[in-house]
Amino acid sequence: MSAGILRFRPGESCTLSRSFFGWSAHGCERFLRLPHSFPDYNKSAQLRCPIRKIFHFQSPRERYTADAAIVWCFDHRFDLVLRKLTKRIGVMSFDPILVAGGAKCLAGDENEADRQFVLEQVRKSMRLHGTHTVLLMLHSDCGAYGGLAAFEHDTDREAENHRQDLHRALNFLQGEIPELNVRGYFVDFEGVWEAENSLGAARIA
Ligand SMILES: [Zn+2]
Repeated sequence: MSAGILRFRPGESCTLSRSFFGWSAHGCERFLRLPHSFPDYNKSAQLRCPIRKIFHFQSPRERYTADAAIVWCFDHRFDLVLRKLTKRIGVMSFDPILVAGGAKCLAGDENEADRQFVLEQVRKSMRLHGTHTVLLMLHSDCGAYGGLAAFEHDTDREAENHRQDLHRALNFLQGEIPELNVRGYFVDFEGVWEAENSLGAARIA
């Protein structure tokens, strides 16, 4: 054991602050970087750590520029159509901002703190990944709206409501960040519908 480093293997753990953690180059072995001033440099001192390696996988290390950020609901039923949409409009890499209801929280009827949170996530995507385009999305039978039942199973009523919400969300975001290319989509069980953005520059991603 080298000075200042306490090694331990899977099954051993530690309740210390995460700031003390480091990763060994050996893959499965973890270690703690203990400050020399640490009062109890001893493995018996309540060492418990709730993380262990499940499998090895090499993720890409390169930073990327996002073609878009997507404000979308986490409803799993629409994962495939999202992939088809992004492929069709040429969005290869994107930052998903997943919240229940998707763009609903930007329309103005939700908690203002939620709207500001999503707005800040968009700004972070722009800062971190150079995002210039945001896709705002709503879908049919969304639990955040109470499902299709909230519209008495009238798909036309639901579509009209979502069309209006989409435009309100779109206008809000475009007003907050005029330089963004904001696009709105409504997804039902038969396809994808795009909202026209009269405020935006109508640039294509
Ligand atoms: Zn939903």
